[in-house]
Amino acid sequence: MKDKLEDLRRLLGEIFDLERARDLLEWDQSTYMPPGAAPERALQLATLSKLSHQKLISGELSSLLEDARQVTASMNPDSDDARLVQRLTRKLEKLRKVPAEWVEEKARAVSLSKQAWEKARKEDDFPHFEPHLTKMVGLIRQYTEFFPSSDHYYDPLLDDYESGMQTNHIRTVFAELLPEQVNLIREIGEREPIDASLLYQPFAERKQWDFGLEVIRKIGFDFQRGRQDISAHPYTTHFGIGDVRITTRIHPNYFGSGFFATLHEVGHALYEQGIRPDLGRTLLAEGASLGIHESQSRLWENLVGRSRAFWTWAYPRLQQIFPQQFGDLKLETFYRAINKVEPSPIRVEADEATYNLHIMLRFELELTLLDGSLQVADLPEAWNGKMQEYLGVTPPDDATGVLQDIHWSEGLIGYFPTYALGNLFACQLWQLIKADIPALEAQIERGEFGALRGWLDENLYQHGAKFLPMELVERVTGGGLSAEPYLAYLRSKFGQIYGLV
Ligand code: ZN
Repeated sequence: MKDKLEDLRRLLGEIFDLERARDLLEWDQSTYMPPGAAPERALQLATLSKLSHQKLISGELSSLLEDARQVTASMNPDSDDARLVQRLTRKLEKLRKVPAEWVEEKARAVSLSKQAWEKARKEDDFPHFEPHLTKMVGLIRQYTEFFPSSDHYYDPLLDDYESGMQTNHIRTVFAELLPEQVNLIREIGEREPIDASLLYQPFAERKQWDFGLEVIRKIGFDFQRGRQDISAHPYTTHFGIGDVRITTRIHPNYFGSGFFATLHEVGHALYEQGIRPDLGRTLLAEGASLGIHESQSRLWENLVGRSRAFWTWAYPRLQQIFPQQFGDLKLETFYRAINKVEPSPIRVEADEATYNLHIMLRFELELTLLDGSLQVADLPEAWNGKMQEYLGVTPPDDATGVLQDIHWSEGLIGYFPTYALGNLFACQLWQLIKADIPALEAQIERGEFGALRGWLDENLYQHGAKFLPMELVERVTGGGLSAEPYLAYLRSKFGQIYGLV
């Protein structure tokens, strides 16, 4: 019977290979592909996706899974095999509930709606996008109806990105977060604003690139099993545990953009590089969820990368590289500039203190769009109202307001909360790490990251997707999702920076 498991692993390995080959073509598309390749590349990507999907829903896989379930029933439920079978079962059960016609209709709608969104954003023309978004909301509502036994209509959407996460759980945590974050922003708003103009001057691109590489090498990104390239939108992808790619973008007149993008992506990459090699070529060879993944990018980008300890080590080197810009500038001035809090209409430019407010706004709007209490036509007004309520700003137009993100045009509803979960998980972990490694801050001040990485390897990275996200949080923290460590972190850090009492 053990052979049945081998057969299942072989077939899953083939699916994995097809998917990673597709990812490699996508990576090439966003980095080096000449524009003339676009039409054929789209066909190649579609072919590979079709082949892997066919194998995934094949009778062969289904019967191998059935056999494997019998084999693993008598195993330790926490064994790799039992967990692999469980994850695959979960995935297939969900796939089977969604009719092929719906999948096709949605794919068609997405391609039209993405085009409409691009045009609408460019021309600040929400009415052009409105019918497409109405169609998309309808399709997503239909999708939720394929899962009638869910506690909440939003659960199956959330579950696509954050397996097992419950809407009510998120609601409770966000309800705790919202007033506290809104208050903090107001208090900060009453203080003297920080001048961050020192970050906005010419910085040679090559030097920015080299500095980023130097830092991530020190942090522990393994260049034998990965590389960094340039793309329009920084992201991380992997073609196996032995090949994890990150991309960044460098702004010639702004220091923050490239460096922090590199740190963010390296956080994702360390996670992928840290997965146990024997989980390779299976469904377990990836992060546990988007939220857990994002906790790792935020941990390195913000908790490490925007800390005073980190720049105590890195700033003298940065001053050497950019003597003209930073030579005479105190560490404290630089530290304050990279931590400037300023409510702005744009999510991707948001600082640590305001970021989650952008997410809570989207989450609320998604819920009301789906339950029908908000019509798409009224969305821009609702958006601007919430922006004012949460952040005290009103976007100058829809292009920088409701049209700023691509997600809804692609039918990605239920996705945004994972960004906020990442911030919360990161602070929950950070609290534990600081308790387990009392010398952490002193180590970071010396540019030593081995103990921190070792902790993350041991507690998080190695497991890949073996555990459900909340199970993993429970195993590591002994409790559930909590807003408190995040709020305590914000209060302490920005209280100090802005002199709040
Ligand atoms: Zn990320």
